[in-house]
Amino acid sequence: MKMLIGGKWLDKKEKIDVVDPYDYSVVDTVPEGDENDVEKALSAASEGAKVAGATPVHERTAILMRVADILEEKREDFAQIIAREGSKTIKEARGESFRCWNTITISAEEAKRIVGETLPFDSVAGSENRKGYWYRMPVGVILAITPFNDPLNLVAHKLGPAIAGGNSVVLKPATVTPLSALMLAEAFQEAGLPPGVLNVVTGYGDKIGDKLVADKRVRMISFTGGTEAGLHITKVAGLKKIGMELGSNSPTIVMADADFEPAVATCVSGAFWACGQNCIGVQRLYVQKPIYDKFRDAFVARAEKYKVGPKLEEDCDMGPVITKGEAERIEGWIEEAKKSGAKLLCGGKRGGPAGTVIEPTVFEGMPESARLHKDEVFGPVVNLYPFDKLESAIDAANSLDFGLHAAILTTSLQSAFQAAYGLECGGVMVNDSTDYRIDLMPFGGIKMSGLGREGIKFSLQEMTEPKVVCFNL
Ligand code: NAP
Repeated sequence: MKMLIGGKWLDKKEKIDVVDPYDYSVVDTVPEGDENDVEKALSAASEGAKVAGATPVHERTAILMRVADILEEKREDFAQIIAREGSKTIKEARGESFRCWNTITISAEEAKRIVGETLPFDSVAGSENRKGYWYRMPVGVILAITPFNDPLNLVAHKLGPAIAGGNSVVLKPATVTPLSALMLAEAFQEAGLPPGVLNVVTGYGDKIGDKLVADKRVRMISFTGGTEAGLHITKVAGLKKIGMELGSNSPTIVMADADFEPAVATCVSGAFWACGQNCIGVQRLYVQKPIYDKFRDAFVARAEKYKVGPKLEEDCDMGPVITKGEAERIEGWIEEAKKSGAKLLCGGKRGGPAGTVIEPTVFEGMPESARLHKDEVFGPVVNLYPFDKLESAIDAANSLDFGLHAAILTTSLQSAFQAAYGLECGGVMVNDSTDYRIDLMPFGGIKMSGLGREGIKFSLQEMTEPKVVCFNL
């Protein structure tokens, strides 16, 4: 596929292979964008911002609705490309393809609800003659940088509200999974989005990132990705708005009074969805002592039944890790944990045609010094910890420097409220694992998990800014 700059699809001699992480077969190629391409995209987006800001809301809505129609028509095509270039199984990819339609549809709806309010200027003596209001205007050029793990819907979470809010965009998708993003850009073009309003540069973040991030024409950076890259971007960005959707190491608490079978099922799914490469995936599972042994055995039995590897097969439960390098890193963390005394309950092996398949892996007795305890694994590994009192589970859940989602499974209203108020994070799920989200809820983290919120209505707040108008009559 090609890059989209100023309404034109551009190719280059220098290419990047996009491979299927299961067997490393080449799915397609994309051009390797460089700093000249970045300059072209920023200049096109600067012009595009003027066009986007002048586009009436009914036209923005109509374009977004047409994109949603295309997503519906091509739902299976999008699912296939997500499943080919990324880690997801075809069943998981179909879920993401549907969610992308939903995200764009909500964006079309929310475009009509960008409102301000009148201001009571006469509340201050001397201002009696003044009348006025504030409304929200677009920020201008938005730089959207996206990760590999939801290669379509996390792109839609930036493009949908950015376009709804009257902004232009330069998108830099993850280098390992740019195809879903480019297909979505094709849909925007087919839907009649004017040239320059959406530009997509493919290329390596560590080569072209700084030029994109530091440029003064960019008025907002909307970044989803790892904490390391996020921190780097905040240092390089200078004075501009920043939205940061970063990583986590999500805790889920299972009380002895929880509805047992659904609790096991949701925790297993939450741990291994998208091969554990999920910012709200369950990594730390705190289980109350009276049910600990029974829960552990049921959890492990379920994990061991997973069919792992060939992600395009309809009955595959979990695909590969995104690259061999990532699979080796996770394997290294597993080995470190075993050496430091953690007990491996199941899984732990790496294999598959390209060495990217890791079995669903469950540990207990994980020391606090192990990376599998304190860092984000972003792979199919989960730790079980027994606890006595809810207070101690909440303290343990809060003890790390992440705060995206947390969860509690319980039939006690008292425990649910105690956890909802006590857990330090952007969202507490009650009777789901941390891995629950719909696309219109405010989504984002505290501490090192991020800054700001996504979820269309909330992204629109970030992607527009108030302007006051005051009449001295
Ligand atoms: P990543 O390595 O941080 O990459 C994310 C994006 O940033 C990619 O497009 C990458 O480009 C780009 N990038 C890397 N270095 C950059 C730089 N110096 N300047 C500008 N851009 C740069 O993350 P990932 O491995 O793709 O995704 C996994 C991470 O994303 C996890 O930590 C996960 O928790 C987080 N995540 C968070 C959320 C959320 O909503 N909170 C959702 C999903 C994922 P290249 O691909 O070219 O390196």
